[in-house]
Amino acid sequence: MAKTQKIAAPVAGAPHAFEQTCKVFWTRSKKVGGFFSLPELTKSFPNVKRLPVSLRIVLESVLRNCDGKKVTPEHVAQLAGWKPTAARVDEIPFVVARVVLQDFTGVPLLADLAAMRNVAAEQGKNPKSIEPLVPVDLVVDHSVMIDYFGEKNALDLNMRLEFQRNHERYQFMKWGMQAFDTFGVVPPGFGIVHQVNLEYLARGVHKEAAARGQTPLYYPDSLVGTDSHTTMINGIGVVGWGVGGIEGEAAMLGQPVYFLTPDVVGFEFTGRLREGVTATDLVLTVTEILRREKVVGSFVEFFGEGTASLAVPDRATLANMAPEYGATMGFFPIDGKTLEYFEGTGRSTDEMEALEAYFTAQEMFGVPLAGQIDYTRVVSLDLGTVAPSLSGPRRPQDRIELGKVKTQFASLFSKSPAENGFNQPAGHLLTRHLVRAKDVREDVAGAPVPKTPSVQPGAPRQVVEMDANRPTLAAAQATASSEQPPVEDMTIGNGDVLIAAITSCTNTSNPSVMIAAGLLAKKAVEAGLVVHPHIKTSLAPGSRMVTEYLQKAGLLPYLEKLGFSLAAYGCTTCIGNAGDLTPEINDVINKNDLVCAAVLSGNRNFEARIHPNLKANFLASPPLVVAYAITGTVLRDLMTEPLGKGKGGRDIYLGDVWPSSSEVYALMKYAMNGKAYRQNYEKVASTPGKLWEKIQGVTGQVYNWPKSTYIARPPFFEGFTMTPGSAGTGVRQARAMALFGDSITTDHISPAGSIKEASPAGAWLKEHGVSKADFNSYGSRRGHHEVMMRGTFANVRIKNLMIPPGPDGSREEGGVTLFQPSGEKMFIYDAAMKYVAQGTPTVIFGGEEYGTGSSRDWAAKGTQLLGVKAVIVRSFERIHRSNLVGMGVLPLQFKGTDSWQSLGIRGDELFDIELQSEIRPQQDATLVITRGDGQQQRVPLILRIDTAIEVDYYKHGGILPFVLRQLLTA
Ligand code: SF4
Repeated sequence: MAKTQKIAAPVAGAPHAFEQTCKVFWTRSKKVGGFFSLPELTKSFPNVKRLPVSLRIVLESVLRNCDGKKVTPEHVAQLAGWKPTAARVDEIPFVVARVVLQDFTGVPLLADLAAMRNVAAEQGKNPKSIEPLVPVDLVVDHSVMIDYFGEKNALDLNMRLEFQRNHERYQFMKWGMQAFDTFGVVPPGFGIVHQVNLEYLARGVHKEAAARGQTPLYYPDSLVGTDSHTTMINGIGVVGWGVGGIEGEAAMLGQPVYFLTPDVVGFEFTGRLREGVTATDLVLTVTEILRREKVVGSFVEFFGEGTASLAVPDRATLANMAPEYGATMGFFPIDGKTLEYFEGTGRSTDEMEALEAYFTAQEMFGVPLAGQIDYTRVVSLDLGTVAPSLSGPRRPQDRIELGKVKTQFASLFSKSPAENGFNQPAGHLLTRHLVRAKDVREDVAGAPVPKTPSVQPGAPRQVVEMDANRPTLAAAQATASSEQPPVEDMTIGNGDVLIAAITSCTNTSNPSVMIAAGLLAKKAVEAGLVVHPHIKTSLAPGSRMVTEYLQKAGLLPYLEKLGFSLAAYGCTTCIGNAGDLTPEINDVINKNDLVCAAVLSGNRNFEARIHPNLKANFLASPPLVVAYAITGTVLRDLMTEPLGKGKGGRDIYLGDVWPSSSEVYALMKYAMNGKAYRQNYEKVASTPGKLWEKIQGVTGQVYNWPKSTYIARPPFFEGFTMTPGSAGTGVRQARAMALFGDSITTDHISPAGSIKEASPAGAWLKEHGVSKADFNSYGSRRGHHEVMMRGTFANVRIKNLMIPPGPDGSREEGGVTLFQPSGEKMFIYDAAMKYVAQGTPTVIFGGEEYGTGSSRDWAAKGTQLLGVKAVIVRSFERIHRSNLVGMGVLPLQFKGTDSWQSLGIRGDELFDIELQSEIRPQQDATLVITRGDGQQQRVPLILRIDTAIEVDYYKHGGILPFVLRQLLTA
């Protein structure tokens, strides 16, 4: 049993208020470790043993880091006394063990750190005082695009292009690697951050270095990541979630992550998944249920016998999509299955033993059963009721059973936007349009350059006419050579699948669905099915291990035959890096306003995320992605109609090629191989790749900001002084920048994808000598504020409802506004600069779930740089709200049923926001509307600065100046 022993002090030199809880544990190999014992704390707080496991892990951090300053004994008592249904008013200071970054969000964060070093130097302080205090790992995964696909060397070609496009960013990362002691980079080509985290970065429990004769202190792994799907790590019992880059930066600089004490929703699984149902089907079902249950701001914790039966990759798939179901986390406790996964992915015996012994000593080993834990409320699902599904066409929570996809698409086609429809004349549904194919793949001599390839080079041409049921396509498929698909003049129509992508960490980390995709491909090829070459097919796993086991299982060649050649190790289509379609296809879509589709095994399908011209985007399991690529349309019912014609003109149905679970299981042995995982990840240090090795970075402790259109010194510290200025007591005489509807995503606010030539960002890049082909994406240019400011609210699908509707009721899309009081229509960026020049503050109005989607700090940074002082909405998504505060922008919420629509706001009014003289969390505020005729209306609002620390951030002008002042004072 645990005994008290002298252990390494967690807080140097300070007496610990809970010293009596320091105990020791022994591993199977009789190694001893110290820990802060929750069973010991239970003696003072009996409630602790019935707390959800996820909360107990947070409690351990609060207990261990209790230094009487940032973390006080009161914080320990508050959390230890957590009541399942109490009002949530206390904030928890959570000090995490490490931070993970992806490159889109990691580069701006590195730029902020570099700018802080500049400020330190300018203030005569030691630049090294700015240093991450916890380990930080950046995985380069978001930059690779699918320019090449369907050919054997697509990976190589796409990576060469990636390095050409991102050279300056990668140089900057190399500067960071040598400037900061605890900053590591996993170079491009290794995988996706969350899968790499799961397979490699997460090592189990952490051990602090101890002096001789002292017992080392152990503590659970925990983290925050600058990507919303950081929650994937909850699948192996690690507490962690996505935060904006702004909070991530504070966490790495030793600040606790502050969050309101959460409700914890218990999710009980009973039963088993049925034959043919995948983990993807399960996660889409869970997403639909939990969205309905409204779990925003809550932890979700899975328990029960059904949960214990799930393999870790299935748990990780479920944990990954927590942002889609709205929860802060989707947590799975550690048990024997976690240890099995650790072994299969190459963790050492020491690590596994320490993990098991630590969690056993804390009485947290194993998945709790019903009745053992007190949750805020419980949701249940019998796994046996889950059916094969897709989600879409616009939101991950809109699940459709496979057999209803065709009818659902057909029905949405002519429905109004208010009903989530596409607003098209019903009679146009089956009309098809000719696309004249040109060979657009002529080789440009020398290094690869950006092209818009979509069809195979040098292939014979033929004309194929297709109706919605595509009999002639099937005929063409039957005769086409699978080795050399033809380039064709052809037709496209509504519902056609133009992108089919096996992508996303959610699914590619799960060998069962990847092997299922490979098996389906094998059976389809053997049956004589093919994929039409104009469909952009890609395989982009989140780790090299996927191709290794697909290869060993003999499945990769079949995926390649259907066009799913390895195109990248990275996010690709899931983040909007699908690359372009051919100009001919784009033209036909645009001229005819077609509603074409993408089917991807991704997480997000918001408008314009996947491709600006694809309006219908469906999330599906990898095997269903292959199936839809073969069918080529969502207007075919895969449950009753054939996928296509096979050998001899025979109809082949989904059931003919769908793999059984025993077939999948038989190949799973190739996916778990500790030695192979170890060998692979050793290469991060030993052989990171020739392209990466060639990159030469700036050296030195302070960055000198060479001229670049990718990286620039951010302006957030301009005029920095050690004493904060006045945050003011409100906003006076502001203009409305935009009036938005519900579900405005962070991608609407700050798109990650392609940059339009005819946009303020496009114009700025051209002025700076960047050709259209080299624009790259907004995501890759987040190190440069000039691009990002211009990209704010520049999503091609965003609708500013200040612009009056057209005669048919349709709304203009794109980042435009009416500059007031003249009413002149212009880009939001241009209007913002005019308002800033005049000294006129601006506000944004929105509806429900404002800021939903990825954690994207530029959505808040861009808002601030455009001069927006407040965002007033019906409700906020968690991360974006806190990011707005972090950038010194006021988040405010309407009360009751009030909305800008109900108040008759049109956009030409003047607005005052009155705050109370002393700002306190969630206090009342007032919006004063002054209309054109001078009439005034006072409207009550709630200030959504939620915690005391956020008040401090706001008073300091944001979290970055706040942290910088603290560091420079220390
Ligand atoms: S963009 Fe997609 S693949 Fe990349 S980390 Fe996010 S969810 Fe995973």
